[in-house]
Amino acid sequence: MKVHQLLTLIRSPWLIRVSNSLARGSDAREAFINQLEHFYDSVEQAITSGNPAWLDSTLLEWTSSPTLTDLQQKKNNVAELLNKIISVTNDVAIENLPEEEALDLLTTVTPIYTYALEKIARLETEARVTYISDELNQVKQKLEKLDRSKSNFISVAAHELKTPLTLIEGYASMIRDLVAETGNPQIDTLLVGINIGIQRLREIIDDMIDVSVIDNDLLSLNMQPLWLHHLFELLKHDLEEAIKERHLTLEIKEFLGSEVWIYADSERLFQAFHNVLLNAIKYTPDSGTITIDGRTLPGFIEITFADTGIGISPENQSLIFRKFSQSGPSLHSSGKTKFKGGGPGLGLPITRGIIEAHGGTIWVESTGYDEMKCPGSTFHILIPARTEASDPKIEKLFGKLEKALPEPDGQPNPPADSTSP
Ligand code: ADP
Repeated sequence: MKVHQLLTLIRSPWLIRVSNSLARGSDAREAFINQLEHFYDSVEQAITSGNPAWLDSTLLEWTSSPTLTDLQQKKNNVAELLNKIISVTNDVAIENLPEEEALDLLTTVTPIYTYALEKIARLETEARVTYISDELNQVKQKLEKLDRSKSNFISVAAHELKTPLTLIEGYASMIRDLVAETGNPQIDTLLVGINIGIQRLREIIDDMIDVSVIDNDLLSLNMQPLWLHHLFELLKHDLEEAIKERHLTLEIKEFLGSEVWIYADSERLFQAFHNVLLNAIKYTPDSGTITIDGRTLPGFIEITFADTGIGISPENQSLIFRKFSQSGPSLHSSGKTKFKGGGPGLGLPITRGIIEAHGGTIWVESTGYDEMKCPGSTFHILIPARTEASDPKIEKLFGKLEKALPEPDGQPNPPADSTSP
């Protein structure tokens, strides 16, 4: 007997067995029998034509409407159903046909079922991938919304805090004038404390404003010719007292790129370097060493700030560039330059924003965080070695810079998790 005739022979016991084992309740069974009839027709057509693609439309229909619970619970319902169908086909063929004919039928039907299983696996995976990417998109949108409201909050809070701070500053200055007349040294000392507080608060507010400016892509640079070495000297001068107080050594190495004029925003670059150096001071125990060095690369200058401090764990090395990250050690000291002196966690995000606005990138290397062994951290900053101003008026003002940037002495080699976009 031909295989399609064998199929017709076992159709009815097959239908009863499959529907009984899979659909509970008479209504469900009736609806299900229609589907199974359709499937059986497709199998017959696939066998007659030798083309398993006859099953495609039924399989597509079965896999096109997975329930949300199925997707959430990662259930492969259609694959499970097909496995059941395969097993029932085997049983029904063996029970209803002579051994040889049952074997004939099963040998013919097996490649068709294999095709169906592969197709279903692909369709169900595609449905799951679509579901997961929809979920991810929703999470991404929620995070972006959260980040926007965080950014708006920072901006509003910073501007709201500025007014009362100016008031406090004004009254403190009036008290100082009054005290100067009466000459009370105790009040003078208290006023110094108030002024330090005011100054610190102003710095935090300024940082909050900078962060919201960067977040909203509003940072505009004032490009002027500068000499990196000059910026390093200014930094040294600015932080001299803290370095001395903490018994640290600051080494500023001379390198090719530090001696040439480049176009950059000197005030913003100073702020970026200041943040990195201040951190090196904060996270290096007394008597440690901080080294500023660099090299030229094709089109870029790389600056490194290496310290002999407590280091940064690999999992935190990209997190620290996010605002309010504070993912490092537990901070206890409130002083700005004291060992492990805490801060609001805005310094590095601002630094990154400034460097990226210049077209550069920043990343950190450290073998890990260890307060006993102090493996140290090295911050790498790449900035473009611009010898031409983007604004022709500026170039007219300062003239064209010497294009003789020395031959590069290295190849750019930022690590895979560099924070650049
Ligand atoms: P803040 O210093 O205000 O906490 P930053 O954005 O400047 O914020 O730094 C974020 C975090 O990065 C710090 O809290 C610290 O954990 C870590 N960090 C930054 N620089 C260093 C460094 N040189 N050595 C060790 N940890 C560092």
